Amino acid sequence: MIATLQDHISEFCNKIPANVRIIAVTKTVSVEAMRAAYAAGIRDFGENRIQEAEAKRAELRDLTDVTWHFIGHLQSNKAQRAIELFDWIQSVDSLKLAQRLDRLAGERNRKPQICLQVKLRTDPNKAGFSVTELWEAVPQLEALKNLQIRGLMVIPPIDLESAETSELFQQAKELGEKIRSQTALSIDQLSMGMSDDYAIAIQAGATMIRPGRVLFGARS
Ligand SMILES: *Cc1c(COP(=O)(O)O)cnc(C)c1O
Repeated sequence: MIATLQDHISEFCNKIPANVRIIAVTKTVSVEAMRAAYAAGIRDFGENRIQEAEAKRAELRDLTDVTWHFIGHLQSNKAQRAIELFDWIQSVDSLKLAQRLDRLAGERNRKPQICLQVKLRTDPNKAGFSVTELWEAVPQLEALKNLQIRGLMVIPPIDLESAETSELFQQAKELGEKIRSQTALSIDQLSMGMSDDYAIAIQAGATMIRPGRVLFGARS
């Protein structure tokens, strides 16, 4: 079972261009399955719950070359723990959260890598900066010295047609390029694409994809 999973994940990885980083989304996935993913070459895990990630990190302590990405909505009272547990926080969805993370990171001498979560369509189910909010926040984001603001992260609304998803991903790419050229933020990463749309995301210029189910099967 586990050997089969390893083969399945290896096969998936072989299909992905080498310049695209695969963040295996392991929420609800067992540590045994995560070890199979590691054996298949995965070195990036994405989790959306602090407690779950904490337990898994402890159990997978021996995998010292893994990079951990937080991809869920981060409540402000968990920000401190997130900084201690994660190398990347991909889901920074407000200026207030960014400022809090910056302060906490400074106190702990950490420099976490950050993606700003942007919302390119109105979506009541999703957090994130609107494009207007993002541009308005740029001066304050530029002032945050303890965060390495590296990229944009997008989650399309569910039920988009693939043509619309493609258009949204292209807009994300253009927005990233615009911010990179017009501000002091060194945005060079674009985190987009999950199990159903990773191929569209890669075509639109994703540098990180975040597949879950396509690697590990449906979550219970
Ligand atoms: C769950 C999740 C994923 C993975 O979704 P799948 O449909 O399992 O590929 C990717 N990104 C985020 C932010 C998620 O919450």
